[in-house]
Amino acid sequence: MTMSRPTPEGRFGDFGGRFVPESLIAACEELERAFTEAWSDPSFIDEFQRVLCDYAGRPSPVTECHRLSQRLGVRVLLKREDLNHTGSHKINNVIGQALLAKRMGKSKLVAETGAGQHGVATATAAALLGMECKVYMGAVDVERQALNVFRMKLLGSDVEAVMSGSRTLKDAVNEALRHWVAAVEDTHYCLGSVMGPHPYPWMVREFHRVIGEEARAQCSEILGGGEPDVVTACVGGGSNAIGIFSGFIDTEAQLVGVEPAGGAAVGGGVPGVVHGMLSYLKQDEDGQVLEAESISAGLDYPGVGPEHSYLASVGRATYVSVTDDEVVAAFELLSRTEGIIPALESAHAIAWVAREPSLKGKTVLVNLSGRGDKDVDQMMDILG
Ligand SMILES: *Cc1c(COP(=O)(O)O)cnc(C)c1O
Repeated sequence: MTMSRPTPEGRFGDFGGRFVPESLIAACEELERAFTEAWSDPSFIDEFQRVLCDYAGRPSPVTECHRLSQRLGVRVLLKREDLNHTGSHKINNVIGQALLAKRMGKSKLVAETGAGQHGVATATAAALLGMECKVYMGAVDVERQALNVFRMKLLGSDVEAVMSGSRTLKDAVNEALRHWVAAVEDTHYCLGSVMGPHPYPWMVREFHRVIGEEARAQCSEILGGGEPDVVTACVGGGSNAIGIFSGFIDTEAQLVGVEPAGGAAVGGGVPGVVHGMLSYLKQDEDGQVLEAESISAGLDYPGVGPEHSYLASVGRATYVSVTDDEVVAAFELLSRTEGIIPALESAHAIAWVAREPSLKGKTVLVNLSGRGDKDVDQMMDILG
């Protein structure tokens, strides 16, 4: 099995597609053409790799966790996406999309954000490339994430509070899509995960492939050839997970996505359409999309990228969930055993490794998607 292109309709098995109003079809098609062309142009790929290296700090290392491994009886390796500029994997995708937007002759970016991490990353790429940027953010999140709102403004972006619906991420995506339709002439929609209408789930995966490709070579070096037994990552929309999975899809490694118990789209959802894609989705009996709820704002997305639904449906990847209490314990555990304060999102993957008895004696590669500086205030309230 390889991770190849979706069908021309943007399907991964039964999932994905392009469920958008007529007015957005042309914009998606233009983007698909531009990305297809750019991704087969060595000069674009060179430029992408150069910015990832000189600006974002790639390659990120793989760290062997000696003390944590001893504690758990599991050999734990971490792929250190927390060490990238802006503190997470998100920079890979935004640099790719911003460079593509420039190549398409667009001067403006629009983005959605929940906790503010994707908004900050997009504002960063916009500043780097001299582009205008507007970020839609639910009014509730604007309130909760004041520091990231200030960061985006500092970077020169405009932040617009979304007052519709539940005033959170789901509504911010809808507003950003609406803005894009109206301004598509000079504006690119920089979507933050492997979700949305075709070509986004495919394109965003391609920009995050670098995580898995680097990790495959680094693990091979550390392990003297061969791969880890298990590769795991947290899953919100699913971009950091698909990035690391893509390096191991053709191996024997078990692939495990970890969702928050309060937002388990694959584990607790049913197939449905949201934000232009068909995928597993948390919804009630009337088909209303449910709010996801977890301790980490970055995983509060009610859906999941369609390729994850596909990987689950064919059994290539499995999806598990962990509770907020387990996540808090894992946040402390990694801090104390390795001197690495993880993002609460990433702590989900650590929590599963710490809990799962079948991992004893195995080698597990965890994608540490981000650093925890942004979460220390919240944890200070909880852990005192
Ligand atoms: C945004 C974010 C996530 C969730 O997004 P995915 O698309 O599921 O990767 C996970 N970890 C961190 C650190 C994030 O900032």
